[in-house]
Amino acid sequence: MKEILAETSPAKMLCGAQKIIQDKSYRRSSHIVSAQCEDGTLLFHTLTGAMYLFDNGETPEDHRDYFIKNRFLVPEDFDDNAYADGIRTAARVLQPKHRHITSFTILTTTDCNARCFYCYEMGRKRVNMSAQTALDCAKYIARVCGQLTDKGEKTTETVSPVKLSWFGGEPLYNAEVIDIITSYLAQKDIAFESIITTNGLYLDADTAKKARRDWHLKSAQITIDGTKDVYNRTKAYIDKYDDPHEIVLTNIENALKEGIRIFVRLNMDSKNADDLIRAVDNMTPRLKGKGDCRFLVAMLREFKGKINEFDTEEAAAEKCVALLKKIEEAGFDRELKLDRELHVNRCMADNDGAQVLLPEGLIGKCEHFSETEIIGDIYSPERDVKLIESWKKTLPPFSECEGCPVYPRCYNLAKCDWTKDACPQSVKLIRIYNLQRQMQRAYNDYKSASN
Ligand code: SF4
Ligand code: SF4
Repeated sequence: MKEILAETSPAKMLCGAQKIIQDKSYRRSSHIVSAQCEDGTLLFHTLTGAMYLFDNGETPEDHRDYFIKNRFLVPEDFDDNAYADGIRTAARVLQPKHRHITSFTILTTTDCNARCFYCYEMGRKRVNMSAQTALDCAKYIARVCGQLTDKGEKTTETVSPVKLSWFGGEPLYNAEVIDIITSYLAQKDIAFESIITTNGLYLDADTAKKARRDWHLKSAQITIDGTKDVYNRTKAYIDKYDDPHEIVLTNIENALKEGIRIFVRLNMDSKNADDLIRAVDNMTPRLKGKGDCRFLVAMLREFKGKINEFDTEEAAAEKCVALLKKIEEAGFDRELKLDRELHVNRCMADNDGAQVLLPEGLIGKCEHFSETEIIGDIYSPERDVKLIESWKKTLPPFSECEGCPVYPRCYNLAKCDWTKDACPQSVKLIRIYNLQRQMQRAYNDYKSASN
C-alpha cells in the first residue's frame, strides 16, 4: 500500500483523525471511489481528498487501524452523508468572505442563429446588449472587481483576475459587445481572462485569433449533436449555409490552432445516442493531435416535452457508458486535474463573488434566468438580498444519494432547474467516471514525479 496524495488538504484538516474504538465493528466508508491502474487499485476518499494505491488483492481492511484513522473505515452505524454535511457546513462558515465580484457571466444577447429543438430558452424575448450597455457593463466590472481604487488607479492589493464567461443566446451573434468590454478592461489595465459557450458557427479563423489575443479567451464549449445530417437537422440554423457542420468543425480546428482549449459537448438523448458514437469516430482523425480538445457527455434534460427520452434509466446509462468509452479510446476524455478541495459553492448562483450580467444591464444569479430572478442592475448599488440568499438554499439529498461515493462533492440547489427532480443513473455515472479518470491521471503524474 502506498499513499499517493499525501499532502494535507483543507478537508483532511477539518475532518482530523478518527478515533479508534477497539470493540466497534468497522466497514468501508461509502465515500470511496476506486479505479484500476497498471500497478493495482487506487482508492480515493471524496471527502478528505486522500488517495492510496493498493496491490491487487490488498485492501484497507488489511491495515485496519491506519485506515480507521484516515476515515476509509468507519463504524458500522456511522452516517457518512450526515458527517459530510457537517464538514461542508463548517467549511462554508470558515470560507473567507468575498470582498469583490470577480466572476461575470455575460449574456451578450438572448438571440441565437440556431433553433435546437431542446433549447430551454425557446420562447424567451430576443434582446441584444447595446454598445452603450456594454460600455456600462465594463465600467461596472472595473468598479466592483477590486483591481482599481476609488480614484481609478491600480490597487496594490493582490486580487484574482476577472473571469468572464460569454453566454447567450449565441454570444457571437453580438460579438461587438465583447470587443467593447474587453478593450475597456485592457485600457484600464485590469487583468482578465474569458471562456465562451458558443455553437461555433461564427468562430472563424479571424475571430479565433482576435478571441485569443484581445478577449484573452482560454476555452470554448461547442456542442456537436451528431454526424453531419443529424447535426444540421438539430441545429436548424437560420443562416443559409450549405453545411454548418463542416464550418463548425473547421472553426474548431482554427480555434485549436490558436491555443484555445475546446470542450466538444455531446448532448445525448435516445434518438442520437448511436449517432454520437459515429460522430466521435468521424471527428477523431480531424481533431486528434491538433491542440487541447476534450469531449464531454451531457444528457439532455426534459423541460418542454420535446426530448426523446430513454425508455429506462438503465438504457440511458448503457448508452452513456458506451459513449464515454468511445471518447476514452479516441483520447479525448475530459482528463482534468484531480480536485481535492471541498467546494462550498455549487456554481455562480450561490457564489457571492459571481454575477450574471444580462443584455439590458440587469444582474442575475443563474445564467438560465434572463427574464426573472433579477437581483439589481449595474447602475445602482441596491441588491435584492433576500433573492440572493434564496439561491443558496440546497436541496435535501435524493434517495439515490444514500451510499453514493461522490456525495461530499455533489450538492444541488433548491432553485436549480437542472437538478430539482432526482438524480438519473447516467448523471451519477458520468460523475464517478470522470473522477476515476482524474484519479488515474493523478497517479500517472505521481509516478512521473517520482521517477
Ligand atoms: S445527486 Fe446524484 S451524483 Fe450527487 S450525490 Fe446524489 S446520487 Fe450522487
Ligand atoms: S442552472 Fe443550476 S447549476 Fe447552472 S448556474 Fe443555474 S443554479 Fe447553477
